[in-house]
Amino acid sequence: MPEQNNDSFKKNITHLKTPKPCPICQKQSKAEFHPFCSLRCANVDLNRWLSGAYVIPASDEELEEE
Ligand SMILES: [Zn+2]
Repeated sequence: MPEQNNDSFKKNITHLKTPKPCPICQKQSKAEFHPFCSLRCANVDLNRWLSGAYVIPASDEELEEE
């Protein structure tokens, strides 16, 4: 009678590969633009680094007002 069963141990391992949302717009990220959802969001993040400040770039898109 085996005291240890490796199969039960394996079953405890679950793959938690939840895709993280885009850090810019919180949309679901895409593999080709990881970790962003699009090239645009990747550029937004890049511009933040280049400008050295957390500046919101003037975009001709997403002019959402409440
Ligand atoms: Zn995005």
